[in-house]
Amino acid sequence: MKRAYNFSAGPAILPIPVLEETAKAVVDYNNTGMSIMEMSHRSKEYDAVFVETQNDGLKILGLSSDEYHVLFLGGGASLQFLMVPMNFLNKKADYVSTGVWAKKAIKEAKWVGETNVVASSEDKNFNYIPKDVKFNPDADYAHITTNNTIYGTRWNKMPDAGNIPLLADMSSDFMSRPLDYSKFSLIYAGAQKNIGPAGVTMVVIKKSFLEKQKENVPTMLSYKTHTDANSMFNTPPCLPVYIVGRTFKWIMAQGGLEAIEQNNIKKANLLYDYLDAHSDFYKGTVTNKEDRSLMNITWNLNTPELEAKFVEEAKKKYNMTNLKGHRSVGGIRASVYNACPLDAVEALVKFMDEFMKDNK
Ligand SMILES: *Cc1c(COP(=O)(O)O)cnc(C)c1O
Repeated sequence: MKRAYNFSAGPAILPIPVLEETAKAVVDYNNTGMSIMEMSHRSKEYDAVFVETQNDGLKILGLSSDEYHVLFLGGGASLQFLMVPMNFLNKKADYVSTGVWAKKAIKEAKWVGETNVVASSEDKNFNYIPKDVKFNPDADYAHITTNNTIYGTRWNKMPDAGNIPLLADMSSDFMSRPLDYSKFSLIYAGAQKNIGPAGVTMVVIKKSFLEKQKENVPTMLSYKTHTDANSMFNTPPCLPVYIVGRTFKWIMAQGGLEAIEQNNIKKANLLYDYLDAHSDFYKGTVTNKEDRSLMNITWNLNTPELEAKFVEEAKKKYNMTNLKGHRSVGGIRASVYNACPLDAVEALVKFMDEFMKDNK
């Protein structure tokens, strides 16, 4: 099989060994004579997969199961936008508005209670990360979006939330870099950007924070329902969790988050250096270098017509896919998640050079 150069923002590229192991397990898991999709989620075999995936996830993040729960839930990151405030917004909550996803989280919090947008980068179409953000000392929690998939920005340095619990939507840069993950009371990430396929959302929640959960939260929307049942209150997304587990093994085999980050820096620098050197033709949308995402890299050409031509030629000539920017902003976006190989980025830069010479 010849792989496409896949720059999809999500569902996104997965490591080849993960796909191959999954292909086998879909037919016959570990010589059980059953597909991984055909087993009871409460069977000994599947339970081992599930628990190992939870443990490996914490190990990669440098967190302990004494202090954190790991949940694998349905409903996408989008359901977490609502679950978070339903469980933890008592008086008021602070949010930083750094893009469409952050705004969606804010919208759901407003269903529940007082929601303060303490900082926003909407004045410049979200092309930067607000600095020196101050949170209300009596807020129930502070919520950020660590990487802004559509605009190509990320929090390089996490904000200081003081004594307020810090919560994050990490969907599009989860496990892309080492961080002090213990600073976060709750992390959630839709798997389909960086750790697996669509259909499962990973939630990491600090046990001491969970104690603050409100009473009277409807059953399926309550984190405690899921932590009490070790994420098997109802049938979990069995196959997606298996694939997340294989991706964790792959991350560990790469050398963990330090090695993953080094590779991500190499790929992103290749693209950013090229964009910066040819800014008369390719206009990177994030000029603040420290705010640049390592995962989603965005730029414009002089006209939408030229952008469309770029996307079309990249596909036709080299099978480079999904380079079109998000429909809300247009332009070009290359998503270069963990599993995107360096040679894909090298090929993209080579094509960009060719395209520039032909169209300047
Ligand atoms: C993709 C994305 C989401 C939405 O995830 P779903 O799983 O589709 O609900 C939320 N937040 C961020 C930052 C994203 O990139």
